[in-house]
Amino acid sequence: MARYIGAMCKRCRREGMKLFLKSERCYTDKCSFERRNYPPGQHGQGRGKTSEYALQLREKQKVKRVYGLLEGQFKRTFKNAEKKKGVTGGNLISLLERRLDNTVFRLGFAGNRGEARIMVTHGWFRVNGRKVNIPSYVLRADDVVELSDKKKNNPKMEVNLKTMERRGLPEWLSLDKDLKKGLLLRLPTRDDVTLPINELLIVELYSK
Ligand code: SF4
Repeated sequence: MARYIGAMCKRCRREGMKLFLKSERCYTDKCSFERRNYPPGQHGQGRGKTSEYALQLREKQKVKRVYGLLEGQFKRTFKNAEKKKGVTGGNLISLLERRLDNTVFRLGFAGNRGEARIMVTHGWFRVNGRKVNIPSYVLRADDVVELSDKKKNNPKMEVNLKTMERRGLPEWLSLDKDLKKGLLLRLPTRDDVTLPINELLIVELYSK
């Protein structure tokens, strides 16, 4: 399975905002973006990106990086969003939010989406009682996501759940911390995602 293995903090600096790709470090003054708030590279401080295409491209890259997707996976998700009823941009964000790896992160079982992806791949989670090890699995309303019995007492969980308290649990999810069980109360909408994302720019980019 292909995945990005480069420096995470460089991605935040490239996108000009904190993408929260690490765990606790993102909330401390060790955050690279807090220290060097300009693009990486020798000419990072001198570069400008003014064309319409550059803005659209950066927006797409930003969303891809937030959710930890490669180009092919992201394009497939966009195509699926296009096929659904409603506004394509909103559908795209909803599909990305409902991915199993993202939901595991949102529930606080993982400190970041990269960690969530690894946990899912290693079979840590059950969806409606059945083992699912596919990070891109798209959840539906009323689905129950639960840690496997073997992993429920893993010491990592307490640390990760504390990080989630700092972020806050989204309104479309509920969590039973003792049972390590989450429920999708409803499908997430565009308004549930507070990150500054302009999904219209992505729709425009792929419409060319
Ligand atoms: Fe981004 Fe987190 Fe690195 Fe800060 S610490 S630059 S938010 S990945």
